[in-house]
Amino acid sequence: MEPENTEVSAESGGPDAAVDGDTGTGEAPGAATLGMIQLAVEELWPESLAEDWDEVGLVAGHPGAEVRRVMFAVDPTIDVIEEAIDFGAELLITHHPLLLKGVTSVAANTAKGKAVHRLIESGTALMTVHTNGDSAVGGVSDVLADALGLQNVAPLTPAANGLPEEGIGRVGDLEEVLTLGDFAARVFGILPSVAGGVRVSGDRDGLIRRVAVCGGAGDSLFGEVRASNADVYVTADLRHHPASEAREAAVNDRPYLIDVSHFASEWLWLPAAAEALGNVLTDQGHDVEIRVSTTNSDPWDFILTPG
Ligand SMILES: [Zn+2]
Repeated sequence: MEPENTEVSAESGGPDAAVDGDTGTGEAPGAATLGMIQLAVEELWPESLAEDWDEVGLVAGHPGAEVRRVMFAVDPTIDVIEEAIDFGAELLITHHPLLLKGVTSVAANTAKGKAVHRLIESGTALMTVHTNGDSAVGGVSDVLADALGLQNVAPLTPAANGLPEEGIGRVGDLEEVLTLGDFAARVFGILPSVAGGVRVSGDRDGLIRRVAVCGGAGDSLFGEVRASNADVYVTADLRHHPASEAREAAVNDRPYLIDVSHFASEWLWLPAAAEALGNVLTDQGHDVEIRVSTTNSDPWDFILTPG
């Protein structure tokens, strides 16, 4: 399936009495300021849940600026930024940071600088919800686990500064035993369609019930996956050596591995995130239109396979 153009309209919910006016002044009735949306984002995906190495939060924009349209996307690529500008978004929220590593220039003739210029010159703010969005309840791996039908879900690695149900990755049980082949078909079916498809390591007829997932690159969690007694691990960006060594270390041939597109595994979160933010803003009486990007920012375009 292609990423759907999911729109969530946070309709005006009446008087705006609960909103703290210190974060901006002069906005039209029902409108939110960027600062107010920052507070709503913090409520849903607290920055304290982000990993130490991560950079999350506001990247560009005036906290007092009025926001009527918001777009969610996985990557702050230039195509995504142009889509946000065409939509008329005053705020683009992406999962991946534009500026994770230090830069010494944002000159417009560099890729990052061009992105920064397009954002600022068009009046589009940029905000990052990355590992805080992974860890939170209703975050990337929670949405993936839910879409796969997992029950009794718990984090693979509980958050250092969070609730027991918060943390990186998730593990849970299918309602019924499935073959690896049938489960892989389920994984394929819930994700947006991308060139790389879904790769599987293991016996197609092997039976599975306990499933570990980690949206995005999850090859640092093999120890936790083994400790969770998962029959199969669904994650992205599995490189040769970690994958090969994990299969060599398998007990009773498990965990099997299912390697999916990094983009696709995280895209699933966007509609859920848009709905969650829309609900918070509606409850606060704001009228903000929220859309999910339809740009496929998976970097791969085609694949050759035998047969
Ligand atoms: Zn990612």
